[in-house]
Amino acid sequence: MTTDSPNTPAAPSDFIRDIVAQAVVEGTYPRVTTRFPPEPNGYLHIGHAKSICLNFGIAREFGGVCHLRMDDTNPTKEDVEYDESIQRDVRWLIGGWADGVMGLKENGEPFYASDYFEQLYGFAVSLIKKGLAFVCDLTAEEMAAHRGVPSVPGTRSPFAERSMEENLDLFARMRAGEFGDGTKTLRAKLDMTSPNIHMRDPVLYRIRKVAHHRTGAAWAIYPMYDYAHCLSDAIEGISHSICTLEFEVHRPLYDWLVDAVGLWNPRPRQYEFARLNLNYTVMSKRKLLQLVDERLVTGWDDPRMPTISGMRRRGVTPEALRNFAYHIGVTKFKSLTDVAVLENEIRSDLNARALRRLAVLRPLKVVIVNFPEGGVAPCVAGNLPNDEAAGTREIAFTRELWIEQDDFMEVPAPKYFRLKPGGEVRLKYAFIIKCESLVKDAEGKVTELHCTADFDSRSGGPTAGRKVKGTIHWVSATECVDAEVRLYDRLFTEADPEADGRDFKTVMNPHSLKVVRAKLEPSLAAATLVERYQFERLAYFCLDLDSKPGALVFNRTITLKDAWAKEAGR
Ligand code: ATP
Ligand code: MG
Repeated sequence: MTTDSPNTPAAPSDFIRDIVAQAVVEGTYPRVTTRFPPEPNGYLHIGHAKSICLNFGIAREFGGVCHLRMDDTNPTKEDVEYDESIQRDVRWLIGGWADGVMGLKENGEPFYASDYFEQLYGFAVSLIKKGLAFVCDLTAEEMAAHRGVPSVPGTRSPFAERSMEENLDLFARMRAGEFGDGTKTLRAKLDMTSPNIHMRDPVLYRIRKVAHHRTGAAWAIYPMYDYAHCLSDAIEGISHSICTLEFEVHRPLYDWLVDAVGLWNPRPRQYEFARLNLNYTVMSKRKLLQLVDERLVTGWDDPRMPTISGMRRRGVTPEALRNFAYHIGVTKFKSLTDVAVLENEIRSDLNARALRRLAVLRPLKVVIVNFPEGGVAPCVAGNLPNDEAAGTREIAFTRELWIEQDDFMEVPAPKYFRLKPGGEVRLKYAFIIKCESLVKDAEGKVTELHCTADFDSRSGGPTAGRKVKGTIHWVSATECVDAEVRLYDRLFTEADPEADGRDFKTVMNPHSLKVVRAKLEPSLAAATLVERYQFERLAYFCLDLDSKPGALVFNRTITLKDAWAKEAGR
């Protein structure tokens, strides 16, 4: 087993890893080989992240390899944009794990099920020759009627008795494009009485006269998922084909097809685990596509989306997602994970790495009346608490400052320990100030506070030990930079956006994005896309892709505390 990097928790143990460990002990396979097989019909989401971490994690822990394979057998919904985004997202998520673990073709591309179309066609011909497949002319409706229901045996298609020669001829002509969409299928000749509906002469190929994003117009027939998937696994020498529970009922067909073609020893085996479900989230690609198409979000990488690209843009690190996947574990029990678990994982990852910075999101002007105009008192602030190696920086204390509107109350609530008329508060890394008077506009709104500072109260100063109850953050009004700050929150207000069959679009959080014009300490003008920041007392932030020199844009990744906890009774 490999040793883990400091950012990765110890590899978990679970029933799938136990199965893999057993195969390694028994020497069943020359090498542990897993695969992650997305269909390029949308962007990857946090559920896929669980599967990626499981499949690549197992390969990594057992000295094996995990193939990235595009399951591109359904040409109508697939697209190069999705293919490219998937590759980008997988590489980003597994990061350094990729070395020696990421299984790709010799040319560096992922594997594609469509690369096997010719081989898969050949296997189908071999099944016809073995009397295990036939060309069927039933329409979809007729086929459904023949199939029956689990408790009632089905009846076999009248076309099942076609001769091998006729089947070979018809199948070749299906490929050549002689027949219209939906007029014929190739079906396995299996068991119409099986209690498992998937075993009742399942369709292996359908006619679909549409171009494919990789094979173009070469094919008029396309293999079904159940047919292509197991045989692609076998072709690639996959040892453990790990998928989600809904494929458990497909496993007998998986086994039957691999054995019916019969070319592989050892052969792949399928294992199932429970998919990730998160509250306050919709996850299926189909629903995420609706949000994108109906412009309810700005795109697949909108920072509110549960997609890998959305979370990346929001400032979530790959380590946080990998830690999350490891901590939630892998079981066979269907369950619902509280999104707060993910959010806490993001917080604890950022807490350890985010540079501390001062920023004011809703500014209120403070004038230090006993400090000269043009004067500067440099204050030293640490970049990371309890980490001297992360260094310090100087921030300028000047006569005019910004503080947060929330940090002042003209008529203070009980136990309000921040600034109030006549009250004192400490400015972080600087001095204790006292609010002497207020300036108001014509409507009576407070526009400015006039304060005095106790210049002896700074750390190391004669009155440094003087206790005041509140400490607040601030930035200089003359030495600061402006920025657009996008405050993201959960996309849905209800834990189960689709409870009682309602449309999830009816419970979208109207406050999932608030944009403010903020004042930041000047060092943030040099912020980078790779760095993460904590604006002290506020939240974690990252630079957004829309940012430009002189027009900074930051995203709120996550608040410091769980603002939803009260709602959920936590
Ligand atoms: P969706 O249902 O969101 O459209 P999908 O299952 O159709 O997703 P695929 O591209 O077929 O998407 O999935 C690729 C792999 O990711 C599959 O092995 C699938 O089992 C796994 N996967 C998809 N969703 C989840 C999830 N929520 N939790 C764990 N694994 C998942
Ligand atoms: Mg799918």
